Amino acid sequence: MSTETIEFQAEARQLLHLMIHSIYSTKDVFLRELISNSSDALDKLRLAAFRDKELEVDTSDLHIALEIDSEQRTLTVRDNGIGMTRDEVVELIGTIAKSGTAEMLAQLRQARETAGTSEEASAELIGQFGVGFYSSFMVADRVELVTRKAGGHAGVRWESAGEGSYTVAEAPDAPQGTAVTLHLKPEDTDDALHDFANPATVRATVKRYSDFITWPIRLGDETVNSRKALWARAQKDVSDEEYSEFYRHVSHDWREPLETIRLAAEGTFEYQALLFLPSHAPMDLFWREARRGVQLYVKRVFIMDDCEALIPEYLRFVKGVVDANDLSLNISREILQQDRQIQLIRKRLVRKVLSTVKTMQDKEPDKYATFWSELGRAVKEGLLSDHDNQKAILEICSFDSTHDPSTPTTLQDYLARMPEGQDAIYYATGESRAALESSPHMEAFRAKGYEVLLLTDPVDEVWVGTVPSFEEKALTSITTGEVDLGGDEVDDDTKQGFEALLAWMASALADDVKEVRLSHRLTDSAAVLVGDPGDLTPALERMYRAMGQEPPTVKRILELNPRHALVTSLRAAHEQRPDDAQLGDTARLLHGMALLAEGGELAEPAAFVALLSRQLEKSLS
Ligand code: ADP
Ligand code: MG
Repeated sequence: MSTETIEFQAEARQLLHLMIHSIYSTKDVFLRELISNSSDALDKLRLAAFRDKELEVDTSDLHIALEIDSEQRTLTVRDNGIGMTRDEVVELIGTIAKSGTAEMLAQLRQARETAGTSEEASAELIGQFGVGFYSSFMVADRVELVTRKAGGHAGVRWESAGEGSYTVAEAPDAPQGTAVTLHLKPEDTDDALHDFANPATVRATVKRYSDFITWPIRLGDETVNSRKALWARAQKDVSDEEYSEFYRHVSHDWREPLETIRLAAEGTFEYQALLFLPSHAPMDLFWREARRGVQLYVKRVFIMDDCEALIPEYLRFVKGVVDANDLSLNISREILQQDRQIQLIRKRLVRKVLSTVKTMQDKEPDKYATFWSELGRAVKEGLLSDHDNQKAILEICSFDSTHDPSTPTTLQDYLARMPEGQDAIYYATGESRAALESSPHMEAFRAKGYEVLLLTDPVDEVWVGTVPSFEEKALTSITTGEVDLGGDEVDDDTKQGFEALLAWMASALADDVKEVRLSHRLTDSAAVLVGDPGDLTPALERMYRAMGQEPPTVKRILELNPRHALVTSLRAAHEQRPDDAQLGDTARLLHGMALLAEGGELAEPAAFVALLSRQLEKSLS
């Protein structure tokens, strides 16, 4: 086979372009990426050899070798791991398969176009994605990769200067495994500290980023890394720096973790876990194919990434390692889901994560606030899916509230502030804080001095339906049901006086509302729309529509304020001229106004405006 030249896929080209014009300030991470790939390749080979006894490979000296040629100014990262076939090289190195890379590139471009944020914002985004193999081009102007797949395939040589295209050719004498050779850029020569043709730089970089890698990393005769699995070392023997680097290795996040969690069980079923909470929401947190789960090891042997059986979806941002002693190395994803021991580990991990956040909330409020603002939206999904831990999840939740606009409140604090006589936890759901605060539903609560939780995340609409109470106080929506705050009672005479009006309006508005009644919740507004408990709320209806479903339209209830001049005048007019067509217009206007006041959308805005304009004309003539 002769040499073949292949164009990089468009997205790969864009990413490479960014790498070459290196926007990432800490270029030395390329070595971490290459070592990380080699480490993965060695893990895969060991597992493959274990599972397939026929596979002809030598696993007696699996390792990573770093080779420096200071004359030629090259650095080679070599492993005798699983290797790649020609097709795999083209597939894995020539394209970017990672989901969401297009979005990342779009965001990068946007960040760079926004003046002032360019450098930092780009670094942040790139870091989140785990820059991978292409990061080699930050320090090299030409990269060669020679590889041979374990099990007797033909060797392949891949080569590129990064821009535009790469070549692939046969490499008959390639040893099994992969060697990546970087032809280092000349401009870095002047700075010995950042010159990767300098063994001291390479050694320090390995120590810094890759010390915990369990395979030996050799530089000449020396093994540079200490190779100890962090989770198997005593807590006191591991430095924060080491935890941070390990976190970066497993999470592809370049920042510090927010919290490190260690966990171990002894006895009949032994395992160790090392978990991390991130300090920022991972970019894919709300993508459909978000990565989820921690790495699974069995007796120090890597088994799989993203082991979703170990972590429920709502804690998908938790990263780390679980190393179990008594599982089979052959265990598959499907079997894992049903494995009782795995289920027990998962239970314990979840409780530990929740209690860690609780402790953070009690002891380190600032850290907790960061956690919640970044990841709370995901955690709240657990209120729906994890019934066993619902109470523990509620305890670590915070919500915006009318009490203090700048600080979210916990339910515990809400209860502590509850005045005498209030016996429910009140909340409002909606699209924005401003809309909720100015909604007529809020009037009676404001008058009474009752605090209302303002829930504006889409998931809030959903979980409130499944959580009946907290500490025996009912969670109660201010927009559903009959609110009776024990204020000025509407006396029986008034009620009777309004009967005819209510009945007439109910029939006049029958297409839009299911009932018209007097309100206990209004002080300033004339009318408000409310729902029955359990009814689909307007926001939920919109959510279903956004998801392409057609939910049944739920009619709501129109409540009138019997003390409002508009309502009392309407009643008087209806008593005198029950057949006046203009009254019907007024009823429709009242309904539309109630809808607008809560931030809702009119079904027919043009018809509403026509009505309004007719009324205005009359009032002027
Ligand atoms: P990532 O490691 O996040 O998947 P990379 O860009 O680092 O992204 O690598 C892309 C893919 O190329 C890897 O997933 C792996 O399949 C393959 N690869 C890279 N380096 C090696 C290697 N040394 N040995 C075998 N396969 C490798
Ligand atoms: Mg990688």
